[in-house]
Amino acid sequence: MEAMIIDAKDITAVVDNDLCHSCGACANVCHPEVILFKETAAGHVFPEINYEGCTACELCSSVCPGIKFGKTMMKVMEQTEDPFEGNVLKTRVGKSRDKEILENAQSGGVASAIILSALENSLIDTAIVAVMTNEDSIHGDVILAYNREDVLYSQQSKYIPIPLLTALALVKKNRERFALIGLSCHIHGLHNVLDTKPSLKKQFVFSIGLVCDRVMVNAGMDYLIYKSGAEKKDVTGFYFRDKKPHGYPGHVHVQTIEKSYILPPQERMSIKDYFTPARCRICFDKMNIGADITVGDPHGIEDVDRLEGESLVISRTQKGEEVLQSTNSVQLRLEDYKSALIGQAIEGKKENWRGYIEKWRELDKPVPTYYEYVSKFTSIKSNKKYTTNLSQALFLRSYKQRQELISTYCKQVKIYKLKMKYLLPITYIMRAIIKIKKELSK
Ligand SMILES: Cc1cc2nc3c(=O)[nH]c(=O)nc-3n(C[C@H](O)[C@H](O)[C@H](O)COP(=O)(O)OP(=O)(O)OC[C@H]3O[C@@H](n4cnc5c(N)ncnc54)[C@H](O)[C@@H]3O)c2cc1C
Ligand code: SF4
Ligand code: SF4
Ligand code: SF4
Repeated sequence: MEAMIIDAKDITAVVDNDLCHSCGACANVCHPEVILFKETAAGHVFPEINYEGCTACELCSSVCPGIKFGKTMMKVMEQTEDPFEGNVLKTRVGKSRDKEILENAQSGGVASAIILSALENSLIDTAIVAVMTNEDSIHGDVILAYNREDVLYSQQSKYIPIPLLTALALVKKNRERFALIGLSCHIHGLHNVLDTKPSLKKQFVFSIGLVCDRVMVNAGMDYLIYKSGAEKKDVTGFYFRDKKPHGYPGHVHVQTIEKSYILPPQERMSIKDYFTPARCRICFDKMNIGADITVGDPHGIEDVDRLEGESLVISRTQKGEEVLQSTNSVQLRLEDYKSALIGQAIEGKKENWRGYIEKWRELDKPVPTYYEYVSKFTSIKSNKKYTTNLSQALFLRSYKQRQELISTYCKQVKIYKLKMKYLLPITYIMRAIIKIKKELSK
């Protein structure tokens, strides 16, 4: 069966078909205030068009990486042996030499140390980075970082959708040279926009891409706040993985003016599947192949400092390699990319991508234009989880109220716990009885 490709005149069709991953690229090519980002009840962050200001120019859909790649991203894909792995110059592991950056970081602080060094050495004037702000209520946002204070503010992973590329509009035209730290979908969108804006491309210096398996809809964060015992309205800081309380990889940390609430990492891990948006299930680029430098956790690498934390660092372009060599703010050692890929379970992720996207197609949903190209690198294996997880992810959009979604999840957790408590022992006993009967009948 031939894959169905979407013919989107504007990005409403992208959102309606669950292909939007909230990168923010579309708003950047449209008139000011015509495309605005709104949160759904579940906590997706999707663009909405104000049709009174829309001139039907189709520019938004032409740069949308949710449905297609422009010439730069296509070139990146076609010049690598495997689009799930990407091009690699060198693989390294290490950490920031700056203790404050390291302690405040998600992993080894390398992403922030590189940006800070580039700012201090005037390689760039500013950097587009994600932050967590408590303006109105706690949520993800994006800023232009100009100094150390901004960089410190931006550190740590926010496992939620943030339309980072909306900040491209804030970069001063023809004046500021900029870098960007983003997820794979942000990097795809960045290339798509730069393909259409040569003057902005001249201002762009380099990108740091984060390895990314998925985000969670914002209801996931609200559930963790609820679980901590804090009231959302009182929350002044939220950290998915804070190293400060108990070291790497970091505990969930909910901060109010009066109190710090700490939850173990398992609380975050256990909710991931339920709150994963559908778009992440059909995203192939977990290793961020379009960035100049990819940074992640050093899973699968031996002799890593698991107390302070370290970062996996992959230079993918000559530009990325030059940036790394020009900074002495990080201490890095060479490692083997194959070990990193094994650590990131890339073979399993390949299998999952194909499994989920085939289920997606069975639901008559359109796929991005590069589907045929990417699928050549995978084979189909069936697994019940593809149907279950995808249906669950698509169902998230049907909630009308966040509280209803969180209550439904709480009920499911309760049922699961009861099953574990009462049904599991019964299953074991039944199995033992069958075994004993078999032995006796010999
Ligand atoms: C959603 C998400 C999923 C990830 N999945 C994986 C994974 O599966 N495997 C893996 O090895 N690593 C993953 N990472 C990367 C890892 O968590 C660290 O971000 C990475 O190791 C860099 O750490 P650092 O100490 O060098 O960065 P830090 O110095 O802590 O800086 C982190 C940078 O990330 C930026 N950032 C944080 N959240 C977002 C966001 N939502 N969107 C855009 N930029 C953001 C911040 O602005 C900051 O600039 C993921 C990160 C995120 C945000
Ligand atoms: S450009 Fe990005 S934010 Fe806009 S519709 Fe496409 S994927 Fe969504
Ligand atoms: S004006 Fe053009 S870019 Fe803006 S929403 Fe309409 S079609 Fe999209
Ligand atoms: S998995 Fe892909 S689509 Fe989802 S947040 Fe990460 S890079 Fe974006």
